[in-house]
Amino acid sequence: MNTTKTKEILLAEQTLLEGELGNIARFNTETNQWEATPDTDLMNMSDDNDAADRFEDFEERTSMLKTLQARLTDIKEAIAKIDASSYGKCEVCGKTIESDRLEANPAAPTCKEHMNG
Ligand SMILES: [Zn+2]
Repeated sequence: MNTTKTKEILLAEQTLLEGELGNIARFNTETNQWEATPDTDLMNMSDDNDAADRFEDFEERTSMLKTLQARLTDIKEAIAKIDASSYGKCEVCGKTIESDRLEANPAAPTCKEHMNG
């Protein structure tokens, strides 16, 4: 398996994800966690009728943040595995992950059988 190419793809996706995260969150260096940030434009609005919208917007950001963060974690782990030469092995059963699964998701941590586990 050519992991050099895979690592390039993963690193590119990591950069992309961190850019997206940067739009909706900030990285707290004390906790090492991304934290959703309120939309500053909305926060500066004086009209209190928008309070509910603001809250919804923040909720949306928080849920988007979780999705992006989970994806970023998978990618970082996959990169670490490439560096440790343990890439492409299912985390549950240790078998080689199907190549079409890795093609669809290079950061997949498990084989098809264990993808929801
Ligand atoms: Zn498995």
